[in-house]
Amino acid sequence: MKIDKVLIAGGTHGNELTGVFLIHHWTKNKTDFSDFSFNTQLLLSNPKAVALGRRYVDKDLNRCFFDESINRPDPTSHEDLLAKTIKKDFDSKGGADFIIDMHTSTSNMGITLMIESNRFNLAIADYVRNRVPGVNIYAFDPSERTQSCLRSMAPHAIGVEIGPVPQNIYCHKTIKKMQFAVTAVLDGISAFGCETEKALPLNFSDIYTHVKNVSFPDEVVGSKFFIHEELEKKNYSPIKKGDPLFINILGDTIPYAGEDNLCPVFVNEAAYYDKNIAFSLVKKEDLLGR
Ligand SMILES: [Zn+2]
Repeated sequence: MKIDKVLIAGGTHGNELTGVFLIHHWTKNKTDFSDFSFNTQLLLSNPKAVALGRRYVDKDLNRCFFDESINRPDPTSHEDLLAKTIKKDFDSKGGADFIIDMHTSTSNMGITLMIESNRFNLAIADYVRNRVPGVNIYAFDPSERTQSCLRSMAPHAIGVEIGPVPQNIYCHKTIKKMQFAVTAVLDGISAFGCETEKALPLNFSDIYTHVKNVSFPDEVVGSKFFIHEELEKKNYSPIKKGDPLFINILGDTIPYAGEDNLCPVFVNEAAYYDKNIAFSLVKKEDLLGR
């Protein structure tokens, strides 16, 4: 596994200013990466959305990189066009072996490493978890969803997601955490970047794998349901049947009725309101790296 080039992206979502700040900072301070043996490139993914202070202009850029949509000859939305431009530019520069994409969440997610579950990604994520307190690894099987992300342009990638932080806010603590986490990913790439596949670890414990998204309940007049305050505290904590999920202004509660020991994540994430997603469910597992 030879890693020669790493792309670090921020501002893929225009209202997540931690990554935007760090891309500007590192553009002026390239020496921060001069000790690494690989080449590092920086990308401010969606400058127009950043200027508008919005997640996106027309649609989520992080859902525009699927081959089918990127190869469409006549993109009309800003982000479809942008994804095509980013990909063309990326390919013309010889691509990258690894992408780090910086994101923030309004939900109390701590530091979450979002990966497609292959062995190299798992090895790097596990390396980071052993060095940075409070890191969780959130793994997805390869799917149209993972392959629509900006980070799908490279064979290996990590999305670093830190929260809670409001949208359009510079938060010093979050920026320092992001800087530390990205540096740890780069250290991990240094540690494993010239290992053969065989030399990489094989077993990975306590990985959270994606199960499904859960929608807000249907709204009827006068009884809009909100996330229950008990659930607000439960990112990465197991829930069981009967635990309260939603509550309305009258105090009516909707309890959990699904499989025990799944864990909610991205609870009450602001960016998911437009998709009516209340939270996602993940399962804690030991994974065998593929
Ligand atoms: Zn984001």
